[in-house]
Amino acid sequence: MTKNFENYVLPTYARQNINFVAGKNAVLIDSEGKEYIDFAAGIAVCSVGHANERLTKAICDQVSKVIHVSNLYYIEPQAECARRIVEMSGYDMKCFFGNSGAEANEGAIKIARKYGEVDGQPKRYKIITLDHSFHGRTITALKATGQESMHNYFGPFPDGFVYAKNIDEIESLIDEHTVAVMIELVQGEGGVQPQDRAKVQALSAMLKSRDVLLMVDEVQTGIYRTGEFLASNLYGIEPDVITLAKGLGGGVPIGVVMTGKKDIFSPGDHGSTFGGNYLSTAAANEVLDILEEMKESGALDEHLLYFETSLAKFAKAHPAIFLEHVGLGMMRGLRVVDGDTLGKIINAAREAGVIVLKAGRNTLRFLPPLTITKSDIDEGFARLEKAMAAL
Ligand SMILES: *Cc1c(COP(=O)(O)O)cnc(C)c1O
Repeated sequence: MTKNFENYVLPTYARQNINFVAGKNAVLIDSEGKEYIDFAAGIAVCSVGHANERLTKAICDQVSKVIHVSNLYYIEPQAECARRIVEMSGYDMKCFFGNSGAEANEGAIKIARKYGEVDGQPKRYKIITLDHSFHGRTITALKATGQESMHNYFGPFPDGFVYAKNIDEIESLIDEHTVAVMIELVQGEGGVQPQDRAKVQALSAMLKSRDVLLMVDEVQTGIYRTGEFLASNLYGIEPDVITLAKGLGGGVPIGVVMTGKKDIFSPGDHGSTFGGNYLSTAAANEVLDILEEMKESGALDEHLLYFETSLAKFAKAHPAIFLEHVGLGMMRGLRVVDGDTLGKIINAAREAGVIVLKAGRNTLRFLPPLTITKSDIDEGFARLEKAMAAL
């Protein structure tokens, strides 16, 4: 298998030599039969765990009838998914469906660019994003990403992206061409860094007063990752545009851009062949059912708290290595004393049978399935202790 990767797959990822062949909730099993506790969930994707029985059944039921028809026809689960997302968000919005986070953000950028086009007035097209942000890998989403090193080789890029050092700097960068600001409420890839709630609320009010759109990239933070359905709910703001993807399909590719500018697009303005098809929206509807029930029963909040407490205890036991505990809900990080040590911890953890991630330069990142049980949380941290002892 690794030969096929070497010979036939472009080497865009630094892959670890593990071949997972099965899983059950927060447990993954490799081809040698070794079990791992999964504290990564495919980077916040497998929100209801692996081989979830309800999700498996919903997908199988759907694909045994129809997987895909084009968006030239009505697709009932797509409309149902849109209704659920809008109602669960509490925002008066409409949805467009694509297949990934980057594609959702492309949709957000197109909404902003069209919003900035008003007859007889100079076009507003500039979008302000933040340093250390991550918005995806397509040319435009990459340009929106505030990490210059990722822009090497791929220019020329579309114009009109401006980077602010932080939220405080945004207002000073607004000019007559600015149409939108796009932010993550917790920077995921950038280092699991939550924004300050009061500053975000002040930003939201300031942008509203200046008719500049607030677009929140919830590709990673959305779908209960921070404890509320959307991080925007947790922060108490009403964005103009929100994007979703990772956790929504439980592993089936899906992306959404939703906006309160409900009349922004006309037929022909935007599209996506696979977007919102039967397979992805039937999966998303089941994921939404499962997680909404967990939230309403109190189980989700209980799991979140248990994970946070366990992580805090683990960090405290190694004060010379973990400098800071960051994040919200089941999107957590520990700042490690240096990048070298972080790499060693991730490898030792894998040896000990637990999957963890890196973010930014020196953050050990945790994104477990939202359905992880207390006993798997305990087992995961017990194995991490073993990993630390082996360093
Ligand atoms: C992962 C991620 C993206 C990109 O999503 P893809 O599905 O890989 O295109 C965009 N924004 C944020 C915040 C992300 O975490």
